Amino acid sequence: MKKTISIIVPCYNEEEVLTIYYKEMSGVMDSMTEYDFELLLINDGSKDHTLQIMRELGEQDKRVKYISFSRNFGKEAAMYAGFCNAVGDYVAVMDADLQDPPAILPEMAVSLESGEYDSVATRRVTRRGEPPIRSFFARMFYRLINKISDVDIVDGARDYRLMKREMVDAIVAFSEYNRFSKGIFGWIGFRTRWLPYENTERAAGETKWSFWKLFKYSIDGIINFSQMPLAIASWLGVTATGISFVMILFIVIRKILYGDPVSGWPSMVCITVFFGGLILFCLGIMGQYLSKMYLEVKHRPHYIVGETNKEDTKLIS
Ligand code: UDP
Ligand code: MG
Repeated sequence: MKKTISIIVPCYNEEEVLTIYYKEMSGVMDSMTEYDFELLLINDGSKDHTLQIMRELGEQDKRVKYISFSRNFGKEAAMYAGFCNAVGDYVAVMDADLQDPPAILPEMAVSLESGEYDSVATRRVTRRGEPPIRSFFARMFYRLINKISDVDIVDGARDYRLMKREMVDAIVAFSEYNRFSKGIFGWIGFRTRWLPYENTERAAGETKWSFWKLFKYSIDGIINFSQMPLAIASWLGVTATGISFVMILFIVIRKILYGDPVSGWPSMVCITVFFGGLILFCLGIMGQYLSKMYLEVKHRPHYIVGETNKEDTKLIS
């Protein structure tokens, strides 16, 4: 029996590029005759005509299924919806903007067939076409998170990968609300082959990630996969207490030896402000974890489906 490959494509305001993507992808699907395909387009609350295009593609081509959210839930939620609903033996995640070249899919499938790997993932070796400041912060982020968390997060790793069913089931079992897929992929293990490729620019349309959005996403990644910031907060506390003991000793001895003319209130103010800042900083770190816990504990759904042409879709999950 033929194996099925599901391809999950999160789309947010992609009207300019979706048809171009479909053309290229259907070419690849037609060429891989040894597989059946499910092209699972996830409309993440687009405000343009992305949904209309999906409906038309679905009419035209029975392989095209779409799931449309009731609003924008973010790319992580879109990928999760894809994982929950994909039926394939192999499952791929791919961006709609052709930055993830469909042309390398056959090679990825061959690697899985060989039985040597459970997933084939892609990694950018250059960041050409990206603003230098963004590349700089991205590199800093990967260096930091790999130092302070136990999971391996590969620099330049894309979300574009092809996986076996076992791996997808493991990902779906991660029902956490604050998702950071790059961390989850690393956490669950399995044998992964890395395919390097050159960065290409978007075929059309614009990136949906502002610098601020990426920054918040990277903080999410750190909080979700490391308890190090909490440890730093407590170590700062211990160090500050140690220093204050030394200072107390110094003052007591000075008083005994030299008496104590009233002076030194400016340094008092500095110290008070310094420790005030330190305390607020540590409280802030705890607040970050607490707010994540708050959201997890509420068990809100990751996404809500407004419309779909796929049977047996989990409408809320
Ligand atoms: N995307 C999404 N929801 C969002 C933002 C982005 O589904 O809230 C999708 C988007 O349509 C694209 C993919 O995620 O298919 C990657 O987005 P983009 O190309 O803007 O990111 P970049 O490649 O610049 O990192
Ligand atoms: Mg892109």
